Amino acid sequence: MTKTYTGSCHCGAVRFEADIDLSKGTFKCNCSICTKSRNWLAMVKPEAFRLLKGEADLADYQFGRKVIHHLFCRHCGIHPFGWADSPDFGGKGYAVNILSLDDVPEKELVDAPVTYTDGRNDNWKEPPTETRYL
Ligand SMILES: [Zn+2]
Repeated sequence: MTKTYTGSCHCGAVRFEADIDLSKGTFKCNCSICTKSRNWLAMVKPEAFRLLKGEADLADYQFGRKVIHHLFCRHCGIHPFGWADSPDFGGKGYAVNILSLDDVPEKELVDAPVTYTDGRNDNWKEPPTETRYL
């Protein structure tokens, strides 16, 4: 069921709302940035994402092909979401770090299906051989 959640960075400078159906699936990836930042993501379309405050508090980090905007709070360093506008992702979309949601019941996190992707090898359609540490 799609629900509207509120998320934020750690210091509270950045706040957002996102309409997410966690039962439709979440993603963990072994690429270099997902591993280091322990990303656990849900993908949403632009109409399902609303930045409430903190646009000027967000810094934008890009690397590699510079397709994905890895946003983080310039005060506390937390990365509540990122976005990309690319045919690879079906147009524009947001990747919400679901652990930055403030009002998601623990049970919904426990029950959320997780798809693992082998981003480290640009093999996005397959899971990596090892997922236990992700
Ligand atoms: Zn912050």
